[in-house]
Amino acid sequence: MPTLAIHNPATGKLLTEVEADDAASVAAKAARARAAQPAWAAVPLTERKACITRFRASIVAELDSLAATMTSETGKPIKMSRNELNGLLGRIDFFLKEVDAQLATETVYDEGGMTEQIEHTPLGVVVNISAWNYPWFVGGNVYVPALLTGNAVLYKPSEFATLTGLAMARLLHAAGIPEDVFIAVVGGGDVGVALQAQKIDGLFFTGSYATGARIAQALGPRMVKLQLELGGKDPTYVCEDANVQVAAESLADGAMYNTGQSCCSVERVYVHEAIYDAFVDAFVATVKTFQVGDPASEDTYIGAITRAPQLAVLDAQVADAQAKGARLLLGGARLAGPGNFYAPTVFSHVNHSMELMREESFGPIIGLQKVSGDAEAVQLMNDTRYGLTAGVFTPDAQRARAILSQVQAGTVYWNCCDRVSPRLPWSGHGDSGVGLTLSTYGIATFTRPRAWHLRSV
Ligand code: NAD
Repeated sequence: MPTLAIHNPATGKLLTEVEADDAASVAAKAARARAAQPAWAAVPLTERKACITRFRASIVAELDSLAATMTSETGKPIKMSRNELNGLLGRIDFFLKEVDAQLATETVYDEGGMTEQIEHTPLGVVVNISAWNYPWFVGGNVYVPALLTGNAVLYKPSEFATLTGLAMARLLHAAGIPEDVFIAVVGGGDVGVALQAQKIDGLFFTGSYATGARIAQALGPRMVKLQLELGGKDPTYVCEDANVQVAAESLADGAMYNTGQSCCSVERVYVHEAIYDAFVDAFVATVKTFQVGDPASEDTYIGAITRAPQLAVLDAQVADAQAKGARLLLGGARLAGPGNFYAPTVFSHVNHSMELMREESFGPIIGLQKVSGDAEAVQLMNDTRYGLTAGVFTPDAQRARAILSQVQAGTVYWNCCDRVSPRLPWSGHGDSGVGLTLSTYGIATFTRPRAWHLRSV
């Protein structure tokens, strides 16, 4: 069998090697999932919910060691690893609370001996190809509702979060999910390709646009349900009536939390010219307080860049911005020593000719652009191929609604940013993807409606 080497991105050291899959083992796993799925769908919902409730309890019981594992292989600051695991609990609670209503058969017509009903059946066998940046969140958004609604799941964690993915499988199995109903599939892109080739009923992907587009191309003729949760270039506009200090602190956190490696990280900030200088000063002052260093340390706010190749993307954006006249206020370079570290980086005087303002950075780097007013801000916020989130800071609710309703984005924020709620759908416009997770829609998406026409005479 092939093996997968797992490194600590903060030290460069080898953590371990695990057995990986190949095309033959992927096919065997898919066959096992196919065989097991009908029996799982026949398990009463109360029992399926009991399994997920036990899974939740085991996360609580092992939270510290699960957080340490995630930090060791992704470089996520340890406090943020614990935050992610705690945040997952609320998502699980939401799914447990809402799943009954989503699965209940609906009678939509009943007259003169004719009854019409909608039944909600599982899709069948679904594949989840996942990302490393929030492995518990983006994985749990898929496999928790998928399992609750009676699907079997082939789960491929990112090759940069494999130990975390294997921990999920261990806990799900210990909680009573049959071994063939949730199967971890280990490896990189080649294993993802092998998964696509199986007879499957749905593929739920979280990752980059480039990979998502390749998967869409391969699955196009196959008529397999496909959801793609991809990248973003998430903008926020700070109006001249905003509280400068509050907005700067919130947006610096939104840009740099998780070392800037969030799909909904603030990636572009537009600031009204009347408060631009004051905002830039407050923003830089806030970023200067962010502690960079060992992700395992309690004080660390900026950890390691998980994937080494991303350092070159950040270098290129910095060089491009500088060549085109941006003003570097902070950072702008890799940090010395072992591991993948990048200094928190802030640019002013940026514009849309720069890659920094156009392409996902996925790191602790941000451009602050001056704008003349709402119209220019809206035009710039929409000048992107992505459309995941967008925000506005102003005390004026009407103005915020007027601006945000013109912006192409699946999620919009008023006086907040970098926030996800289990109660709201998570989706993107444009190259940020198709389909959604979370909310009651994010449970229904793992079912297919069957139309029943029933004549009793
Ligand atoms: P990635 O595209 O490199 O990898 C994602 C997954 O795809 C991994 O499991 C990888 O092994 C697999 N893969 C790679 N090539 C494949 C192929 N040809 N066929 C099938 N699978 C293949 O992305 P990443 O670096 O893991 O994640 C970062 C990206 O994810 C960013 O763009 C980020 O914005 C995005 N993201 C989006 C959301 C969202 O909800 N929209 C959430 C988290 C991350």
